[in-house]
Amino acid sequence: MQEQELIHSIRTIWLEKVTQALALEEGVRENLALLLEQFYSHLETAVAEKDPTLIDPTIELWANSLTETDVEGQPNHLTQILKEILLLTQKVCKETLAAEDALVYMDLVLPCFAFGFERSTELEVQLRIKSASKELETMRDSMEKLDRSKSNFISVAAHELKTPLTLIEGYATMLDEAFKKCPDERINEKDLLKGIHHGTNRLKVIVDDMIDVSLIDNDLLRLNFQPVWLNRLFSVLETESRSVLAERNLELIINPFDGSNDVIYGEPERLLQVFRNILSNAVKFTPNGGKITIDGRKLPGFVEVTIADTGIGINPEDYSFIFEKFGRLGNIATHSSGKTKFKGGGPGLGLHIAKGIVETHGGTIWVESQGHNEILNPGSIFHILLPIKAEPVDENILKLFSTLSNK
Ligand code: ADP
Repeated sequence: MQEQELIHSIRTIWLEKVTQALALEEGVRENLALLLEQFYSHLETAVAEKDPTLIDPTIELWANSLTETDVEGQPNHLTQILKEILLLTQKVCKETLAAEDALVYMDLVLPCFAFGFERSTELEVQLRIKSASKELETMRDSMEKLDRSKSNFISVAAHELKTPLTLIEGYATMLDEAFKKCPDERINEKDLLKGIHHGTNRLKVIVDDMIDVSLIDNDLLRLNFQPVWLNRLFSVLETESRSVLAERNLELIINPFDGSNDVIYGEPERLLQVFRNILSNAVKFTPNGGKITIDGRKLPGFVEVTIADTGIGINPEDYSFIFEKFGRLGNIATHSSGKTKFKGGGPGLGLHIAKGIVETHGGTIWVESQGHNEILNPGSIFHILLPIKAEPVDENILKLFSTLSNK
């Protein structure tokens, strides 16, 4: 038999057997049959032309179709497949050809397989290098991000801590000078002490926020689950924000809604912190005379709270950024300072903390707005979805609070 004839004589049976052995699942069989057919055609040409490199297009095609998981997972994926094909070829030869023809056949195809092994190893090494460099680049990117976040943290912390420290220092110096200059005269110590007190309070809030961020980021935030009634939290919120709302001429509307009087289980202090942070932003980003509305609804297994304002709004592309650490919008330098003033600056931690607390409760938080516009003031709506836990975490706590729940 002629060499080419010999190779061609077992083509059909080879295709059938190799496809069956390699593709265990019905679905991939058709695809594999096409690939193997192409491989065999290249093999026939390579033998006819006595040039093993002619099987290269198949090897390259196979290497390029390897997925990233193939490259990262089993090493020498392609070489292993080629080895399987070679062993199957030898088996088909033995089963279908006379011993002498089988020897000739193997003698003809072996150089092609040898080239295939060499080439696939080379291509696979290249692919692994490419994949490792990509991994390295991703790592470098996250290191850079971490570095940026670190320096961001230092500059924000320094700036935020400096303001209350300057306050404290100023009032303390005034107190000192006042005592020195006029020891006999009455000095208004009360005002000066109030200033120092205000400064230390602001410092405490900032340090507490930083501690919360580190707890959230390190997955260390633990909740003390207790029965919570949302309407009671809203009343607390209303009382604590009354003077600020009056000062900024803002109206706070709290709509009773289905679910607001039900008991849900969570940590009241932490949930209050979430609503406080969002309300404080609504105050900061709504011009004087605006309106803030707390509303909600009951959903299957969840209760949704919405806090809507008539403020400057947020562009959709910034929705996720504002929940990131230090995610503040606009030119920070033009922000006024203070926690309640219109567009008052802050460290950009409030929403990040709110998100962490809500998610630790098993809930989710998001924002929607028609966009940012300081003339039209389209407003923003913050949604807080909290799971209604049917069971209290601790039976004893439920007993203790059950008398209250009916009041
Ligand atoms: P901070 O208030 O300390 O700057 P937050 O994390 O609470 O930080 O908010 C992040 C940013 O999101 C704010 O700086 C502001 O740019 C934007 N933002 C938050 N709430 C509102 C709102 N109700 N209206 C418009 N912008 C808002």
